[in-house]
Amino acid sequence: MNGCLIPHTPFAVDFWKSRQSDHTRLFFLTHMHADHTSGLSPSWKHPIYCSEITAKLLIHKFDIAPALVHTLEVGESRMLPLDETGQETMTVTVFDANHCPGAVMFLFQGYFGSIFYTGDFRYSPEMFDHEVLANRPSIDVLYLDNTYCSPECKFPSRAQATQMIKDIISRHPEHDIVLGMTMLGKEDMLVELAKTFQTWVVVTPQRLETLKLLELPNVFTTDPEAGRIRVALKYQITRKNMERWNQERPTIAILPSALYTGLDGKPYANQPDVHIVPYSDHSSNGELHDFVSRLKPRSIIPVVKGTSRGVFGTSLQGR
Ligand SMILES: [Zn+2]
Repeated sequence: MNGCLIPHTPFAVDFWKSRQSDHTRLFFLTHMHADHTSGLSPSWKHPIYCSEITAKLLIHKFDIAPALVHTLEVGESRMLPLDETGQETMTVTVFDANHCPGAVMFLFQGYFGSIFYTGDFRYSPEMFDHEVLANRPSIDVLYLDNTYCSPECKFPSRAQATQMIKDIISRHPEHDIVLGMTMLGKEDMLVELAKTFQTWVVVTPQRLETLKLLELPNVFTTDPEAGRIRVALKYQITRKNMERWNQERPTIAILPSALYTGLDGKPYANQPDVHIVPYSDHSSNGELHDFVSRLKPRSIIPVVKGTSRGVFGTSLQGR
């Protein structure tokens, strides 16, 4: 789980263990990916602060009481009370994290100093156009999405990666295309593919419900006969499934993910019908460098703990 109680404050980010949160008054949610929501359930009883899109997804997926969900507008700075009387307050500023629908970063400013929490993010220089960051605030602690914090983690922009995906599809005009994805994220790329190749994108009923909440262009369907591009879950891209799908129709799979970048072992190396494209919703190592050198925090704490990215997961080397 990639969340934490923020020390010496009464708030927490992406942290949903009630029993360990006796002194916590405010709970912030950066985005709806599973590794940031683990522990949330319909029985949750505390106020949650998040973006408007995340609020919709949160109520839909976890059946959280709407009265507990407080939306913060992207770009706004809001003063929030830190105690019951409202004598102690802090200011929270919300930034687009450029990650998945609804994903935001938080800047907390108060008696504890300045704390910037990225959650998961893909850096873009425009982030510093926001007047709060343009004024170069001093940042005491940066909680940084260190998913790809290793020199080996170099990959292209999402526009370039989308073009790589289009090139693969163009080279296979007679094939069905299966995209191996997670349940949330990369929807803009799917819309772009639908428009370029003039096809519906076939999804499961469950995914379609989420897509409807996101109010995206009408390019998605649950009718498997309606389009040649379809979305599956990553783990469904197996040798066995590829064989089965190819018995029905010629099929290739594309995995739009930078997860394998810089790793020694090359998964799917013996499966020429599976194409890995380093399309990333996280910052590359170079982008992390740019972000940190512009923000100039006094200290950095990694958001990703454990071994989800092997040695890279906890690494802040080469900072
Ligand atoms: Zn995420």
